[in-house]
Amino acid sequence: MRTPFVVGNWKMNKTAAEAIQFVQEVAKGLPSQSIVESAVAVSPLYLQSMVTAAKDCPLEIMGENIFYEQSGAYTGEVSPQVLKEVGANYVLLGHSERRMYFHESDEIINRKVMAALEVGLKPIICCDETMGRQATGDQIHWVVSQILTDLRGLTDEQMKQIAIAYEPSWAIGTGTSATAEQAEEGCYLIRQTVADIYNDEIANEIRVLYGGSVNPDNIADLMAKRDIDGVLVGNASLQSDSFLKLVNYQK
Ligand code: PEP
Repeated sequence: MRTPFVVGNWKMNKTAAEAIQFVQEVAKGLPSQSIVESAVAVSPLYLQSMVTAAKDCPLEIMGENIFYEQSGAYTGEVSPQVLKEVGANYVLLGHSERRMYFHESDEIINRKVMAALEVGLKPIICCDETMGRQATGDQIHWVVSQILTDLRGLTDEQMKQIAIAYEPSWAIGTGTSATAEQAEEGCYLIRQTVADIYNDEIANEIRVLYGGSVNPDNIADLMAKRDIDGVLVGNASLQSDSFLKLVNYQK
C-alpha cells in the first residue's frame, strides 16, 4: 500500500515571513492523522525556521536542490548533510528548471541522488518530457534513458528510499495539465522501467508522482489512476487554502 503524497514546489517564491505564515495557516487545517503525506520544497534560506514552525504538524519541509558533495570549496552550493541537519527529510532532484537553466545532466543528478542517500535525505527525482518528444513517440526512450542514468548504482534498499516524478515540461506552469490518462501512461512507464531494472517488489513499493498544472479541481482524477501515487505541484501549492484542498483531495 503506497501512501499518497502531495508535494508542493515553491521554487524561488515567498519571503521568509510569508513562508512562516503559510505553515501557521496549514497547521490549522492539516489533520494530524491524515492518510495523505504532505511536503513543501522551499528555499534553504528559511527551511529551518519553517521546520521549527511546523514541529507540531505533519507537514514535511524539504529541499529543492543540493550539491553532490557534502562540503568543500563549492561557493554558493547547498550541502546535503547540512540540509538534513536543519530538518529536511526529502529533497527534489532533477527538476526540469534545474535541467534547463543550470544544465544539470542525468550524470550530475545521479551524483546528487547518491549524496542525498548518503546522509539519509530521500530524493524525489524528476524526469521531464517535451511536447515534441511526445508527438513523435520519442518520450518513452527519453524518460527511460533519464531514469537509467539517474538511478545508476542504487541498491535495492536505496531504491526504497526514493520517489520519482513524471513531469512533462509542456504542462509545468502552463495551466494545461496532462490528462489523467497521459499522466498515468508516464507514471506506468516509470514503474515498468523500475521493474525492468530492479524487480516487481521494488516497482510496487516505489511512489511515482505526476507534476504539471495540478490544482484542486483536477487532483482527484489524477490520483484515481493506478500508477499515480502523488502529485508535485508548483503554482497551486503557494497559497495555504489551495494547498490544503490538494492534501484533502479525497474529501
Ligand atoms: C513544478 O514546478 O514542478 C510544477 C509542476 O509546477 P506547476 O504545478 O505550476 O505546473
